[in-house]
Amino acid sequence: MNYLKKFLFLLAYYSGLIGVTDLLYYKIFKGIHVPVLVYHSISDNIYSYGNEIGLSIRKEVFEEQIKYLKSRFTIVPFSEVSNCIHNYTEFKKSPISITFDDGYCDNYTNAYPILRKYQSPATVFLTSGNINSKRQIDWYNQDFLSRHKEGYEDFKANSMLSSDDIVKMKVDGIEFGAHTKTHPVLSGLSSDEQSIEIMDSIKEIEGLIKTPVKTFAYPFGGAKTLTDETISILKGLGIEIAAVSYGGFNNLKTDRYKIRRIIIIDEPLYIFKARLSVFNIFIKGLW
Ligand SMILES: [Zn+2]
Repeated sequence: MNYLKKFLFLLAYYSGLIGVTDLLYYKIFKGIHVPVLVYHSISDNIYSYGNEIGLSIRKEVFEEQIKYLKSRFTIVPFSEVSNCIHNYTEFKKSPISITFDDGYCDNYTNAYPILRKYQSPATVFLTSGNINSKRQIDWYNQDFLSRHKEGYEDFKANSMLSSDDIVKMKVDGIEFGAHTKTHPVLSGLSSDEQSIEIMDSIKEIEGLIKTPVKTFAYPFGGAKTLTDETISILKGLGIEIAAVSYGGFNNLKTDRYKIRRIIIIDEPLYIFKARLSVFNIFIKGLW
């Protein structure tokens, strides 16, 4: 986020503009919105996945965020987001959902203890081909490594969740969803290739957690990374709800197969709070 945006958020937050927008939307106009957050890696290691592009969050920052969410919202698993939208008025504290993409091992070592501490549900979308892998996703690897040769060993150590990690987290109530087998742009594949990518990941995860997989997140998750066909394949395979990676309202008009998410990065708490606000959705078009 550039300095201008940061400054505008700071201004909007401390002037009360964000609070007023939320008040108008939720209380006066009785608007519905269930925010869904997407995390990747939670790590203090500067060589962790995604640190360069800001997708890694320090543990203390993550804890501060979860603590805030717990105090302000009812945290629900991603599978319940659609039900929450339809039963919105039953919630005393607004519902919100926390998700993790790709399945980094630090979701177990770093995020999970904090989620337990605050008794927070969460949903992890696994790229099944990377379970038990020491390898990062190739599309990011090469570029990063060429600039960070000296940190390679640390970088490799930041690997993916193991089968054991997944089973332990599952027993403790963490939900798992599919995120394909190899993390391709689905819209670039044939119908058969898409089916295989999706089906293989569902089967592999179901084999581990012994529970049907009902949730899915599109790799990359931009508007052009999926097609209508992708959605019909998901429906045919028993997926009941799916997540994209762009923002917007999750309300009665939202397609259950295009649930909007807010990408969370390592940043001050006031920006985190502003990101969750409807103000952020309204001004999105401005940048
Ligand atoms: Zn992903």
